[in-house]
Amino acid sequence: MFTTQQILERGKNVLIGNYGRLPIVMARGEGSSVWDTDGRKYIDLFAGFGAAILGHCHPSLVAAATGQIDKLWHVGNTFYTEPQIEFAERLNASAFPGKAFFCHSGLEANEAAVKLARLRGQQSTPRKWKTISLNRSFHGRSMALIAATGNPATKAGFEPMVPGFLQVEAGDFGALESAVDAETAAIMVEPIQGEGGIYPLTLEYAQQLRQLCDARGITLIFDEVWTGGGRTGKWFGYQHFVSPGATSTGDCVTPDIMTLGKAVGGGLPVGVMYARPDIAALLVPGKHGCTLGGNPICMSVAREIFDVIQAQGLLEHARKLGEMGMATIKANRRLTDRIVEIRGKGLFLGIELKSDPTELVEKALANGVIVNLTAKRIIRLAPALNISEETWKHGLAVLMNTIEQL
Ligand code: PLP
Repeated sequence: MFTTQQILERGKNVLIGNYGRLPIVMARGEGSSVWDTDGRKYIDLFAGFGAAILGHCHPSLVAAATGQIDKLWHVGNTFYTEPQIEFAERLNASAFPGKAFFCHSGLEANEAAVKLARLRGQQSTPRKWKTISLNRSFHGRSMALIAATGNPATKAGFEPMVPGFLQVEAGDFGALESAVDAETAAIMVEPIQGEGGIYPLTLEYAQQLRQLCDARGITLIFDEVWTGGGRTGKWFGYQHFVSPGATSTGDCVTPDIMTLGKAVGGGLPVGVMYARPDIAALLVPGKHGCTLGGNPICMSVAREIFDVIQAQGLLEHARKLGEMGMATIKANRRLTDRIVEIRGKGLFLGIELKSDPTELVEKALANGVIVNLTAKRIIRLAPALNISEETWKHGLAVLMNTIEQL
């Protein structure tokens, strides 16, 4: 047996220091609770950067994983396996008509999307190959995707950037229109900018994007790595882009390609590029692939997550708890001087503070709650969708006390 101090020392010796790790060793989890090696319990309001969408060790997901572990591990994508097909069918049932490519992460899903948009762009004269994205965006950390990411800090030290990527101001449609040229293959945006600080795109802007892409033959990519899989109280973030009075989900602003990660694997490595069938058809053998993409164990869990969310009405639960959380924080007069705004959808919320807090995350942890801070002063909350109302209320109360004491 090692003491926590000894484990921390061992970790520092063997793990690269590219994460700002806290001096805590997490040992086990159940639902929205996790315990460290000293037995301290925390309420998890950030669920593994939003990935643990049904919390820790959900019994149905454990059963799905172990059921598959005993059957078949991996055969490579030259064969069909049923878990892949079943998960893709779940996507079909909840999103626009499309076809899926599976990988392990959001980054890989975005790489595949950008590649596919370029393949499509090859059919035009002149050849379309450029991707426009937004300031304050985050799309991943490969060489291509740091070029697509609208945050100078993510690019710093890795210049020169891969050519063919540029960013414009989020929400400024005029700037976007002027940036588009005959070589623009794709426009890639997050329905709610996550790493940037929980900034939802407006319906009007989304509609303008769709019209522009249709008019100019540009592929519209929605990076739904944060917003996909139920996080926002709808299956996918784009489903919020719906005109008032619209009667069917088909009436929303739909992308040509949607990328998924985080929540769809529930904490296991699953990435998805999901594309309109006519565009997906361009990805023929030899153009793209991923050895472990669509691994049957991960796919069984992904399929089960969709079924649990559906069967337990968790989208509605997420919407209800999200609205309740926003209202509770807004109504707290003791926080009026500290908070600029609270924004987001479903269980994906950002609380913007008036000034940069010191050690907010550490103080919240000391009080027993896991939260995240992004863009220096925006507290992000992304708990499991199945968090109970009681735990959510308690976690928020602890967080609000922590903010008050800053
Ligand atoms: N896209 C968005 C919107 C993200 O927020 C992230 C990660 O946070 C990524 C892509 C990259 O995903 P991954 O870390 O799974 O590669």
